[in-house]
Amino acid sequence: MPLLDMRARLVVLGVALVGASIAVAQEKPASTFHVDARRLQRTLEALSAFGRNPDGGVSRLGFSQEDMAAREYVMGLMREAGLQVRVDQAGNIFGHRDGTEHLPILLTGSHIDSVLHGGNYDGDVGSMGAIEVMTALHEGGVKTRHPVEVVIWTNEEGNHFGLGTLGSGVAAGLLGPEILERKDDQGLTLADWLRRYGQDPARLTEARIPEGALAAFVELHIEQGPTLDERRIPIGVVQGIVCVKRWKCVVDGVANHAGTTPMNRRHDALAAAAKDILAVREVVRAESGTQVGNVGFVRAEPGAINVVTGRAEFPVELRDLDEAKVDRMWGAILGRLKEVDGVEGVQTACTPLDDVKPAKADPRLQSAIREAAKGLGLATLDLPSFAGQDSQQIARIAPMAMIFVPSKDGISHSPKEFTPWEDIANGAEVLYRTLLILDGSN
Ligand SMILES: [Zn+2]
Repeated sequence: MPLLDMRARLVVLGVALVGASIAVAQEKPASTFHVDARRLQRTLEALSAFGRNPDGGVSRLGFSQEDMAAREYVMGLMREAGLQVRVDQAGNIFGHRDGTEHLPILLTGSHIDSVLHGGNYDGDVGSMGAIEVMTALHEGGVKTRHPVEVVIWTNEEGNHFGLGTLGSGVAAGLLGPEILERKDDQGLTLADWLRRYGQDPARLTEARIPEGALAAFVELHIEQGPTLDERRIPIGVVQGIVCVKRWKCVVDGVANHAGTTPMNRRHDALAAAAKDILAVREVVRAESGTQVGNVGFVRAEPGAINVVTGRAEFPVELRDLDEAKVDRMWGAILGRLKEVDGVEGVQTACTPLDDVKPAKADPRLQSAIREAAKGLGLATLDLPSFAGQDSQQIARIAPMAMIFVPSKDGISHSPKEFTPWEDIANGAEVLYRTLLILDGSN
């Protein structure tokens, strides 16, 4: 190594050491942690055994045997934490801890079901983190003014019925008895599955949480995206859950012989769709901000190598926290599609499929999270959640906020999902402190 490089390296090393010593000086000793990081790791590892896949990760689908067994395990932990356990008519599990005053409930928790071949962090971190907070309150003999509850929501991932955030949706009053007779691909209804949890489907609406019953809902969760990991920021303060709008677009052209139809006489629906799909990406990229857009597939008919495509169908999905921005982008996309129609001699029509409104986090709760993180010397970043969450349902009936911890490389819904133990412990401690700040603030 040339001498100059050596010197440069030493200087860099010196700076790094100075930086490190400052960081250490700012760091509070571990004893200021109220949650027990090692116990949290143990419960998360124990939970990961339910539905573990031989090739890594977990398949713990809502209502499955593995889910049932994991729920029993979680209820046991709740009892050990001195909580009164109850299961509502949607199968949501609650662990209750009394407050000293007659006040609305401070609620925290997440979900323990996973997708097929999922990871061990999505939902699990917030569930076990919340139970660890309750255990720490119990062991510390901490008295809170508000009752504090932990919740494990039923079937967040929407297995069986394609209905995500099922339990929280029922609790928020957004889903009702109309979903009970919906059949899954095994021919079983939601009512059948609820009976398996020991619930009475006829009483489903009893699971609704009345407005005013909750002082706040705070959910700890992994980011499931790359921002915190990339920027090396330990705590994300979620601004809200983005709105999701979806459309189905159909391009009508003319199917014709691919050999005998001259190139200038074609009404090629697939070629037009290709331009449309690129236009979607261009419009979404043209705006500043973190909005996203996707075209997940394209179907071409008749779909033969020797036939010019007569009909093409593709979906468009747009997501952002700002609904007006999504509407504006959609207007621009429609303009571009019309241009393509003119050039390609086809006709395109789009119809709306889904319209999920954004759910904003409560500013007072967001400040409490920032304050809690600051007390631990942890940097925070405000960011939206691009994934659907139970929190977005509960936002309809109570002030809501979410604490994000980093996801390595932004990977989620995969066995490769990973969050370091240290980040998980930080998130749980921030949750503990946030709840106590909220308990004292009103
Ligand atoms: Zn989740």
